[in-house]
Amino acid sequence: MNVLVINCGSSSLKFQLINSDTEAVAAKGLCERIGIDGRLVYQPAGGEKEVTEAAMPTHTEAIRMVLDALVNPATGVLKSLDEVEAIGHRVLHGGSKITESRVIDQEVIDVIDECCDLGPLHNPANLMGIRACMELMPGKPNVAVFDTAFHQTMPAKAYRYAIPTKFYEEYAVRKYGFHGTSHSFVSKETIKYLGLDPENSKVIVCHLGNGSSISAVKDSKCVDTSMGLTPLEGLLMGTRSGDLDPAVLEFVCKKENIDVSEMLRILNKESGVYALSNGLSSDFRDLEEAKNNGNEAAGLALDAFSYRVAKYVGSYVAAMNGVDAIAFTGGIGENASLVRAQVLGYLGYLGIKMDEEQNKKRGENFVLSTADSKVKVAVIPTNEELAICRETVALVK
Ligand code: AMP
Repeated sequence: MNVLVINCGSSSLKFQLINSDTEAVAAKGLCERIGIDGRLVYQPAGGEKEVTEAAMPTHTEAIRMVLDALVNPATGVLKSLDEVEAIGHRVLHGGSKITESRVIDQEVIDVIDECCDLGPLHNPANLMGIRACMELMPGKPNVAVFDTAFHQTMPAKAYRYAIPTKFYEEYAVRKYGFHGTSHSFVSKETIKYLGLDPENSKVIVCHLGNGSSISAVKDSKCVDTSMGLTPLEGLLMGTRSGDLDPAVLEFVCKKENIDVSEMLRILNKESGVYALSNGLSSDFRDLEEAKNNGNEAAGLALDAFSYRVAKYVGSYVAAMNGVDAIAFTGGIGENASLVRAQVLGYLGYLGIKMDEEQNKKRGENFVLSTADSKVKVAVIPTNEELAICRETVALVK
């Protein structure tokens, strides 16, 4: 089955056409600068990247260009759009009402719409992508795969904030968690790869990328995760602060004479390792290079990041009363051997031992721990598009 996987951001759209039988990607690409001017990057499997500049006032024109590229007689991979059998959409926020992937109907659209204030940057864009696909490919099944769904199995003691119940009941203020598609995919792959029992296992997934989050997965179900109502809570990230004393907001707002929205912008866009490295970079490759050249602030940023990851791992060992395996994924988790070594350096008390040679590897599933390590540690590359494709097929077949 050919599944078109769509991931819409506010001014961008990533896509992959995947053959679900072979799980091979037939074509992929992205549209950028939607609503500004417009640029399509399209790449068929084994072919060159093509770049087309064209007006994309909305996501509908962007998706139309993607579909045209897929059936283009010269470089397209389909004879006609009839060959697309289903469309899988990444959707950020499904609130508390949606606990799993769903075939999109009016009820699902209404929930995504209701959750726009919880995901103000992403949910409206996700809806635009869904509506555009429904308009351009009428009658095809569309499936929504939610970033929050995997975390809906968390117990109340993990997702409730200790603030007045009114805020929870009336405004749905609670921990939701994000990167759920990745946490779900990687926890399943880890269980399979390491030969663990899906019904009796304790796995901690460290999804470390520009946005980073950790989840505790017991018996294949999420029991806790580090992101919260929004993706700002938890680990410190590329440009996000992660956890901090909420009183910092009022204190700095008063000192700097700024409002809470501006402060939140700073906590989202100008904080994290970017801030700790004194504005050097949010990219871990730059930070590693700078640290190696003696830049102390870059060294502090890397240390603080790894320290926070290790603290969360420790707390999730407590949450599950043990751990069988820890998985690293995401751009940093899959590539940054220094960060992995730093994190595991804090976890010796768990009997974890890292294999230095293995830690040089990247780009595939591999075991990072030594044979006598008490806890298995693995690197498991995430593949959110494939996860969305699998979910879509499971619902429409
Ligand atoms: P992601 O958001 O999952 O795509 O992760 C992107 C981040 O991964 C980048 O900003 C880098 O910080 C990090 N990254 C990618 N490749 C490497 C590498 N070879 N070494 C260290 N960090 C890397």
